[in-house]
Amino acid sequence: MDERPAASVWAVTTLEPPPTPNPDSAAVEHGEVLVCVDPRTGATTARIPVDGPEEVARSIAAARDAARSWAAATPRDRSRYLLRVRDRILERAEQLVETICAATGKQPAEAATTELMAVVETIGFYAEHAERWLRDQPVHPGSLLHKRAWKRYEPLGVVGVISPWNYPFTLAMTPVVTALAAGNTVVLKPSDVTATVGEEVRALFDDDEWPGLVRVVQGGAATGDALVRGGVDKIAFTGSARTGRLVMAAAAERLTPVLLELGGKDPMIVRADADLDRATRGAVWGSMQNSGQTCMSVERVYVDASVHDEFVERVVRQVEQIRQDDSGSGDIGSMTFPPQVEVVERHVADAVAKGARVLVGGGRLDRPGYWFAPTVLVDVDHTMDVMREETFGPVLPIMRTTSDEEAVALANDSRYGLNSSVWSADEDRAAELAARIEAGNVCINDCIVSYAVTGLPFGGVKESGIGRVHGAEGLREFTQVKSIMATRFRAPREPWWFPVPARLADLSIRTLRLRFGSTWRRRLGR
Ligand code: NAD
Repeated sequence: MDERPAASVWAVTTLEPPPTPNPDSAAVEHGEVLVCVDPRTGATTARIPVDGPEEVARSIAAARDAARSWAAATPRDRSRYLLRVRDRILERAEQLVETICAATGKQPAEAATTELMAVVETIGFYAEHAERWLRDQPVHPGSLLHKRAWKRYEPLGVVGVISPWNYPFTLAMTPVVTALAAGNTVVLKPSDVTATVGEEVRALFDDDEWPGLVRVVQGGAATGDALVRGGVDKIAFTGSARTGRLVMAAAAERLTPVLLELGGKDPMIVRADADLDRATRGAVWGSMQNSGQTCMSVERVYVDASVHDEFVERVVRQVEQIRQDDSGSGDIGSMTFPPQVEVVERHVADAVAKGARVLVGGGRLDRPGYWFAPTVLVDVDHTMDVMREETFGPVLPIMRTTSDEEAVALANDSRYGLNSSVWSADEDRAAELAARIEAGNVCINDCIVSYAVTGLPFGGVKESGIGRVHGAEGLREFTQVKSIMATRFRAPREPWWFPVPARLADLSIRTLRLRFGSTWRRRLGR
């Protein structure tokens, strides 16, 4: 079952239902206005008009106009511009943090690190490396020694970015900045749940220097769908696997390429020789930070039986001490999206009904807003949703294993494959296990933070996605490769042109034997 939150707590009224209705994300669309809510209190913070298909089409056209001159700018000029955007982020840092916290329920420390720091790093990274990675790359011409060949990385044109609510700044800005660094312009549709952060992104690019580089359109599924079908040159989508499927199907109509960064059910494997102090702190932070609403949260833990009880005892002690409040200086804040709280409740109830025990937490906090207590579950197994579906909340289920083999088999028993972690004092053994985990990313003796190494490509396998962000691979996601071949010498003709020489077949076979025959390989010892 692909379970995503149903929008049942919200009145959902759109003037025009989306062509591919997705009840999940039209959650705060009331008529033509997005009603933005502070999840810490439930108070309304803003009303933002929804953009219909006409506005989406106008934005794509404006971005296409801007694309010509932006593509013609040198990578160095583009980098200089991005660094000026970075300056604006730093100037407005406090205001950005405040907007992010009011939209998501995060703590300021979480917003400052996982949102601002991540974006500032990414801008600096591509400002430094984009020029080199976009340079023409020579290619050996193989047997055609009289040819010269090279690859050229060209911008795609206009990229449509669709982003989620859990890291509304980072996950909007990362594809936006990368697409710009590669010479594209962008139309961004931020999450309808955190539309106020989308307005901050709009303001960052609102200048006379390069008008139209980044257009922001607001709305839910219908606006996103209009963008996907609107004739952009690529869609960079971050969100649930369920919406990812809809996006890919809609994009298929025009054969628009897609980059999909989707959900996860990240496993954590703890071997008997692991440093339990570090591993338990890692498990607690990795499952609870951002109230568990991270695509690469630790969603399930497999602990060797010999250290299971001690591991659980330490985890429970630490979870009981988590400071969960809206003081601005706690460890975690509220959850963001009310339907997601329902998913968390359902997963805990399903686990308990099937025999799991709740050692700490287990339910909502009795206060306004969307608060769920940090929760630890034991005696869990793979019949339970909490071990198979994305929970996306502050819940840590811990399962006992009897061998590395069993732990790896359980880790791989998932349709997701985003991030994962192995904890062991034996780094070589951990690396062996890492190689066998079906995931796009693995951390050894840490979790989640591989994303912060901007040089490492990040993305999923299986239903966790297609394509990569970060690194050279992430930049080149927003380019098309043009392959160019030139003739070095001005010979009057090629040997295979008409009329085909009578001896061409014979000559070709002899040349092949000479170059690739086993006699030579044996003599050269290959
Ligand atoms: P979601 O799929 O509900 O929505 C994502 C975005 O898609 C929103 O902007 C939404 O308005 C838009 N949308 C909804 N229906 C659409 C449609 N039919 N066509 C086009 N756009 C549409 O996801 P969410 O609830 O906002 O985010 C949480 C999910 O995102 C989780 O599954 C999480 O794991 C995943 N996620 C993945 C990554 C990653 O990098 N792999 C990062 C963060 C979040």
